Amino acid sequence: MEDGEAGGIGELDESRAALLAEAADRARRYLRRIGDRAVAAPPEAVLALDELDFPLPEGGLEPSRVLALLDDVGSPATVASAGPRYFGFVTGGALPIAVAASWLLAAWDQNAALSVMSPVATRLDSVAIGWVSRLLGLPGGTSGGFVSGATMANAACLASARDAVLTRAGWDAASLGLVGAPPVQVVVGDEVHATVLKALGLIGLGRGRALRLPVDEQGRITPDRLPRLDRPALVCLQAGNVNSGASDPFVPLIGWAHSQGAWVHVDGAFGLWAAACPEVAGEVAGVAAADSWATDAHKWLNTTYDCGVALVRDGQALRAAMQAEASYLPLGAARDPMLVTPQSSQRARGAEVWAVLAALGREGVSRLVGRHVALARRFASGLSAGGLDILNQVRLNQVVAACADAEATGEMIAALQREGTCWCGPTMWRGRRAMRISVSNWSTTEGDVDRSVAAVLAAARLTSARR
Ligand SMILES: *Cc1c(COP(=O)(O)O)cnc(C)c1O
Repeated sequence: MEDGEAGGIGELDESRAALLAEAADRARRYLRRIGDRAVAAPPEAVLALDELDFPLPEGGLEPSRVLALLDDVGSPATVASAGPRYFGFVTGGALPIAVAASWLLAAWDQNAALSVMSPVATRLDSVAIGWVSRLLGLPGGTSGGFVSGATMANAACLASARDAVLTRAGWDAASLGLVGAPPVQVVVGDEVHATVLKALGLIGLGRGRALRLPVDEQGRITPDRLPRLDRPALVCLQAGNVNSGASDPFVPLIGWAHSQGAWVHVDGAFGLWAAACPEVAGEVAGVAAADSWATDAHKWLNTTYDCGVALVRDGQALRAAMQAEASYLPLGAARDPMLVTPQSSQRARGAEVWAVLAALGREGVSRLVGRHVALARRFASGLSAGGLDILNQVRLNQVVAACADAEATGEMIAALQREGTCWCGPTMWRGRRAMRISVSNWSTTEGDVDRSVAAVLAAARLTSARR
């Protein structure tokens, strides 16, 4: 049908176009001011959210009025994590191409579960998995899928691992489950990320029964006096400690685990991206010898939320663990995302990753990572020159800083968050209260780091002056 052919359609099209244009305008305005506002949401804005908590309207509101409410009341209560001075957790910040592509993808409204549902989403999903895998230096033929984040990527990889090692032990876990199965030994480092334990719980191997290997002062597993492993066994290693940024020594650890028939899984939510930057790739040397890898695109690759990546060397193991059969599902040779991920219906995450990687290229990703490492070092030396203690070797994009005592550190963080120039969160590092800084947003500049260093030091001085 031609545009505007029938009056009704023409009107519908016009009001839809107006609504989308208004959303784009509001988004543009939001992002234009993102660098000038306080990074944390002001308390008044959070209180004002009550305005959105009204009884469900009987008749529904005008869509443009809904958009206005979202923006006028909602936008001020956001945290400016899209902006250049948010250093909390490891959040990344969506690149312009990521936001723009995600808008178009939302308009497509594709279900990326099956190629019959979306030839384009499934094709780009498969291209993007190949690109990610090559960029990270993983073995040719590595299979994978896009999931909600590294938590689900850990779960998907570990489910594949569990089934594969049990299959080798003569037990069909995919159909029989774990009741009556031979016990699977699970080994982690003492600095294992909470979500690996969560994933182990989800897949029935337990949050609490893993053997924990000792770690050094950077949080890396110490590769000496390693225990003998039972069979079947899973060993979970880490690329990028969430505080220090340090990675386990993969060469000796994977050698040890493989010599005893264990499956090696690597949680590399952000740290695996070091492999894409020659300057710091040495941090994760040998990681490609593992059997599975969990990472995120929404962290260091700066896609929108949510987007994690599960990667498995043995594609058959992933497919066996993620398969689903029904008479109406056209299961063929196609690599359908629902057959390599825990999800069935899913948004076209791979298409957004494709867009971001196409726009950055290999060099762009490398520069993004390298720049963040340099900015983290700049942050650390600024703080150190100002009298703060830096508790980690700054080898990646993470800085752990502290004042002389725990109480002062806590007060400094609270003062900093209230003041609003930047946002950093608290942590405990090797028994000491500390502040965590993660540089992972494409738009952060040296100027942003310098302003943030000044704000942190001012917060620290304020704290010590009150004592
Ligand atoms: C962030 C993170 C996770 C969890 O990732 P989500 O995307 O939040 O699910 C897991 N492991 C490490 C090391 C992380 O930094």
